[in-house]
Amino acid sequence: MQPTQPPPLPKKADLVTPFLFRIEWKDGAVTEHTARDLRLACPCASCIEEGTGRPLLEPKTVKDDILLFGSELVGRYGLSFFWSDGHKTGIFAWQRLRHLGAQRGEA
Ligand SMILES: [Zn+2]
Repeated sequence: MQPTQPPPLPKKADLVTPFLFRIEWKDGAVTEHTARDLRLACPCASCIEEGTGRPLLEPKTVKDDILLFGSELVGRYGLSFFWSDGHKTGIFAWQRLRHLGAQRGEA
């Protein structure tokens, strides 16, 4: 019997600069996420329509120079971020962060 794939877990997750967030994973992978990429991928109810998953956030309303002010652990589930536009309602599951990093070809 194959064990099911455990969800990816981070070893270290930190801001490198206000523009760049870096995650080192327990399996040795490293993913890097820009403040803007994370903002565009925000999964909260004001950015993504609940139920349909339709994006409500207009990418051109997100400035290129948006910054990350910080992040906060949400239990073992994931992270929430604080952006310079005042947005902070999105909770990113670790799995999602790992997937976002992989889309950028870094994991
Ligand atoms: Zn959001």
